[in-house]
Amino acid sequence: NNSFKKKCWTKHPKCRLPTTKLFIDGKFVDSNSSEWLDIPNPATNEVIGRVPIATQGEMLAAVDSCSRAFHSWSETSILSRQQVFLRYQQLIKDNIKELAKMITLEQGKTLADAEGDVFRGLQVVEHACSITSLMLGETLPSITRDMDTYTYRLPIGVCAGIAPFNFPAMIPLWMFPIGMVCGNTYLMKPSERVPGCTMLLAKLLQDAGAPDGTLNIIHGQHAAVNFICDHPAIKAISFVGSNPAGEHIYERGSKNGKRVQSNMGAKNHGVVMPDANKENTINQLVGAAFGAAGQRCMALSTAIFVGESRQWVPELVERSKSLRVNAGDQPGADVGPLISPQAKARVESLIQSGVDEGANILLDGRNVNVKGYESGNFVGPTILSGVKPSMKCYKEEIFGPVLVILEAENLDEAISLINNNPYGNGTAIFTTNGATARKYTHEVDVGQIGVNVPIPVPLPMFSFTGSRGSFRGDTNFYGKQGIQFYTQIKTVTSQWKAEDATLSGPAVTMPTMG
Ligand code: NAD
Repeated sequence: NNSFKKKCWTKHPKCRLPTTKLFIDGKFVDSNSSEWLDIPNPATNEVIGRVPIATQGEMLAAVDSCSRAFHSWSETSILSRQQVFLRYQQLIKDNIKELAKMITLEQGKTLADAEGDVFRGLQVVEHACSITSLMLGETLPSITRDMDTYTYRLPIGVCAGIAPFNFPAMIPLWMFPIGMVCGNTYLMKPSERVPGCTMLLAKLLQDAGAPDGTLNIIHGQHAAVNFICDHPAIKAISFVGSNPAGEHIYERGSKNGKRVQSNMGAKNHGVVMPDANKENTINQLVGAAFGAAGQRCMALSTAIFVGESRQWVPELVERSKSLRVNAGDQPGADVGPLISPQAKARVESLIQSGVDEGANILLDGRNVNVKGYESGNFVGPTILSGVKPSMKCYKEEIFGPVLVILEAENLDEAISLINNNPYGNGTAIFTTNGATARKYTHEVDVGQIGVNVPIPVPLPMFSFTGSRGSFRGDTNFYGKQGIQFYTQIKTVTSQWKAEDATLSGPAVTMPTMG
């Protein structure tokens, strides 16, 4: 469907490469920037397009457009806003293959996984369609005689989203649909490595009837991020990405009086109890450690084998060997490339650090040979055992297809290991014992817990509740908390007295309403 894609790109006059446009005030426009970044296909490192670093003037134009559109959009009836997102969810469904193709091209993940990426974002859009219930306020009649109190939820103004590279559809869709359906206008800065999917999503939103200026898109890196943190018209920032960026954005945005929600890095542990269903557990561990080449913030990158379950490790290694490493658009591919040569070099050096610090390398995915894709950023499934908490490969988020294995004598030891890790994004326990599962869910200090569920990313009627080092802010993404993040409350207390109850004189004491 070319017409749908054509709008978002032009050919660069010199190199003829597709050049990502900006989306400003309802128009897909060419940037005047003199600074451009290459977008390589991670499976080949061939440059497939270029993305501009938006100029100051372009960024100002984008935020001004959001500011202008806010007045009418926030006053648009909630039913009209709901209609836009009802049409939008259908358009996303109709174009899911096209969106997935763009994700695989720019990000590298397999096509099936890319469809999952879109689908999980689509679920958030579908949830946004319930806004007529989600945005209800509260009322309490007869606070005192003839007096009632009620609250409205109202939008807060221009909001902004800053997204990472690893979920080019899902994460932007955590951001602008919820922000906009509440009546805010939205400035999006997608990851400069994977801007294509956000552009397609913007085109579909325009087709769904979102008025000009309600969504604007700028491209860039640090300068764009700092612009968002500093511009006084922007009232709230949603960020997802790494800790250095997230901590910076949280601090700079909050200092400027903005609301900030910042979802960051992770080190997710899977605890394997000896009573677990062995077959399921091994399959789930392999999928959750190596799926998306480990580039998921909820990847299960660390396994703790408790007691006798350690005997299952050889089988885990065998199962992991069966995964097919290949370009994401190749049939049967299980594990695609990493995002960049730098990411590959970093992952390989973390593997080496584990070996140097005394871990056993049970499966080594370095130097994996992918026929026809020799220049891609591939690392095959890698397993390190005998890992200790002091090792670099345990302390750092690897963000690659590497599973590190630790052992614990009992559940208490496993829990204390996890609670001593600074991250709190996700964890899973594999067990058939309800009491064990309950103890674990009760005592482990991690925001999202799976019981026999390896990647417990909550559906959008709940919220994404990573905690501790994985999150800054106090109101999470999507679900009730997402609505809370993007709205402010106005509370009205009104009294309608019957004429015969008129006050006889001024009341100068603090009204107690009693
Ligand atoms: P990243 O932090 O490099 O980039 C995210 C965004 O921040 C991009 O838009 C980028 O342009 C910008 N950015 C990067 N460095 C910056 C800096 N120093 N200052 C200001 N802005 C900066 O993250 P990434 O590599 O794209 O994504 C991977 C990371 O995201 C991993 O750590 C992963 O765990 C995390 N992540 C977390 C979640 C979650 O929900 N907790 C979800 C997905 C990814």
